[in-house]
Amino acid sequence: MTYAVKECFLTLQGEGVQSGSRAVFLRFAGCNLWSGRERDRAEAQCNFCDTDFVGTDGEGGGKFAAAEDLAAHVERLWGDGEESRLVVITGGEPMLQLDEALVEALHDRGFRVAAESNGTLPATPGIDWLCISPKGATEVVQRSGDELKLVWPQPEIDPGTLEQWDFDHFLVQPMDCERAEDAKAAAIRLAMERPKWRLSLQAHKLVGLP
Ligand code: SF4
Repeated sequence: MTYAVKECFLTLQGEGVQSGSRAVFLRFAGCNLWSGRERDRAEAQCNFCDTDFVGTDGEGGGKFAAAEDLAAHVERLWGDGEESRLVVITGGEPMLQLDEALVEALHDRGFRVAAESNGTLPATPGIDWLCISPKGATEVVQRSGDELKLVWPQPEIDPGTLEQWDFDHFLVQPMDCERAEDAKAAAIRLAMERPKWRLSLQAHKLVGLP
């Protein structure tokens, strides 16, 4: 399988429970909920995306012909240290491309594999840390994992329904949008009213990391 990677670089994980951890960040190209083209946004199943996942032209991006090649690329970006190797795989929608061969190749190089998905596709087996972030009215089939991240507000989503799902951590994150102040207030309100949820911020944006 050929993997299409938008970008891949060494940074600090910016979101969620593992926020602040050194990680290689691997963004796959392509998503099943939006083409990535502005002209399609209004009609897309997910229409608040703040990510460029089109093409393979980002930093460290490209096409990789085999799992071994991509895992070697990740290892080169990490450098020599053997300790606490972490790769965060996102997109786009990573489950369109992340397969067991790649998870295994990364494990062979000592990486823990974290992934963030919109949950509309079953998660690839072997992932060490799975974050699911539901989008709008889509049907989420992956209802278990480590971290459920709810970008808020989304009127189509009932947090009470999500609370029945099998996750260890429930995070609410203000939507990064034109009405950011309203979104922050709404996220704080949700966390105050429903103690199962913790407020999560995009720390990388606060400190100026990509
Ligand atoms: S599911 Fe994620 S990557 Fe896809 S359009 Fe929505 S926010 Fe963007």
